[in-house]
Amino acid sequence: MPELKSCPFCGGKPVLITVMDGNKWYSCHNINCKIRPSTPMSKDINKAIEAWNKRRKISERGH
Ligand SMILES: [Zn+2]
Repeated sequence: MPELKSCPFCGGKPVLITVMDGNKWYSCHNINCKIRPSTPMSKDINKAIEAWNKRRKISERGH
C-alpha cells in the first residue's frame, strides 16, 4: 500500500470519514487547517491514496 502523505496545507494526518451516502473520503479535519482538503475514497484504497498524494503535488505546484 502506498504511503498516505500528510495534509499539504497544515501537515496534519488525513482521516478516513464516511459520509451520509456511504461514500468514504480522506479528509483533513484539523481545525487550524485553512483548506481542509478531501479526496473521495474509491473501492481501491491504493487509488484513493494515490489521488490524495497527487493532490499534494498539484497544490505544491499551483500555489
Ligand atoms: Zn490540513
